Amino acid sequence: MPTAYRNYVDGEWIESRAGETFEVRNPADTGDIVGEFQASTSADTDAAVEAAVGAQTEWATTPGPERGNVLAETARILEEQRDELTETLAREEGKTLDEAGGEVQRAIDIFCYYAEKARDLGGTVKSPSGTDTELYTKREPLGTVALITPWNYPIAIPAWKLAPALAAGNTAVLKPASAAPTVARKLLGALDDAGLPDGVANYVTGSGSEVGGTLASHEDIDGVSFTGSTAVGTGVAQAAADDLTRVQCEMGGKNPTVVMPSADVAEAVDIVGAGAFGVTGQACTACSRAIVHEDVYDEFVAGIVDYAASIEIGPGLENPDMGPHVTQSELESTLEYVDIATEDGANLETGGRQPEGRAYEDGHYVEPAVVSGVTSDMRIAQEEVFGPVLAVLKVDSFEAGVDVANDVEYGLSASIVTQDLSEAHRFTEEIESGVAKVNEKTTGLELHVPFGGYKQSSTDTYREQGDAGLDFFTSTKTVYMNY
Ligand code: NAD
Repeated sequence: MPTAYRNYVDGEWIESRAGETFEVRNPADTGDIVGEFQASTSADTDAAVEAAVGAQTEWATTPGPERGNVLAETARILEEQRDELTETLAREEGKTLDEAGGEVQRAIDIFCYYAEKARDLGGTVKSPSGTDTELYTKREPLGTVALITPWNYPIAIPAWKLAPALAAGNTAVLKPASAAPTVARKLLGALDDAGLPDGVANYVTGSGSEVGGTLASHEDIDGVSFTGSTAVGTGVAQAAADDLTRVQCEMGGKNPTVVMPSADVAEAVDIVGAGAFGVTGQACTACSRAIVHEDVYDEFVAGIVDYAASIEIGPGLENPDMGPHVTQSELESTLEYVDIATEDGANLETGGRQPEGRAYEDGHYVEPAVVSGVTSDMRIAQEEVFGPVLAVLKVDSFEAGVDVANDVEYGLSASIVTQDLSEAHRFTEEIESGVAKVNEKTTGLELHVPFGGYKQSSTDTYREQGDAGLDFFTSTKTVYMNY
């Protein structure tokens, strides 16, 4: 019998009122059921919001250091469960053990970071114009927030929303993605074990439109923090905006790495390969376009084809180089994009097929693909694939490289590989992207600096992570004190 997981509402583990459940299966072995989850309804979601609203005043008035202690204890419990969490993450989402372990560590670090921030929410003191007065600002929690998260970082993203929300004194309802809700469930378990008061954080699983849609338009929700696709995020932003609810949507990407002639080509191949094929290409910051100067184009293509072809594919739990896609539909979407690329005239250099053999029959595997000869007008150069498919485009100058890099509707992460200092600086100035990197892969983020996108990658209202992560979850009050 698979484990049956329940919602977490008002400090209780409860079933959906409708009594329906859905299964989550291991993407490396679809016969393996990871767990059964509640197919919750709007009524279940309303109950979670009601619990969060009921707990809000007491949590907001709990001293910041005490709130921080709960977060620090949560980090300690997660640390204790690190191996189990890592295995669960690999089993439900398909990441390799190394990738899953890195993500679990990120969740622990995020809780440690915001545990400290809870005692340091800040505020400013200014000189007033009158005498016998004080003029200062203070930060107050927003209230009750909805957190809607994707499957691709199923513990890190819930952590980087929940930790700042709770540190600042908000209460929250988390709706995880249905493809990988288990590690988020365990995160809520850690918060419960750490002594989080009932109702402060709630967890409701179920369909995006039913649970997520109810949260996005709920009149008692004061802020909606969403991460996911641009299509869904746009609807969430519109639903929230209807009653002027604060909203933050972090969405898709079509991230470029520009490779210039001064680059060490072997190094460029490693940077692009790691960015494109790490976590099976299922990162919002994954490199999906290599924009390569003509002087090093052939050498780069030969190198990246070798890189992709040497990647060992297998079940995440066996810690190969690359695990499977999370679901059959994600796999089909990747295969379809490979077909679209070749139909549009690009050359499939390697990969892009399901690997053959008994070992791969029960999982959503795909060989990492390199398509060369891509031009910016092709769909493979414009649309987010969200799989291990790298499009290689040729340019004849730095200016053309930046133009092509910017010639998409997204702007999440971008990098350049160059030894030319002037190009490095110009790139960081001219690239239309929330993250700009020099001689680094597009993936991989520090947790103590802001993260977010430009253009269709983000509502660009607030940033996540670092100090900026608290901005979304707080309101600023200006106090005029005439004593
Ligand atoms: P998705 O948009 O399909 O789903 C995201 C979440 O929204 C899920 O919990 C889903 O159930 C929920 N949802 C679905 N329909 C909804 C609706 N009508 N109303 C409210 N909520 C709804 O995304 P996904 O497939 O889970 O994740 C992959 C996407 O996430 C990619 O586009 C990727 O680029 C993006 N992503 C962005 C970032 C970032 O920080 N920019 C990070 C990770 C992933």
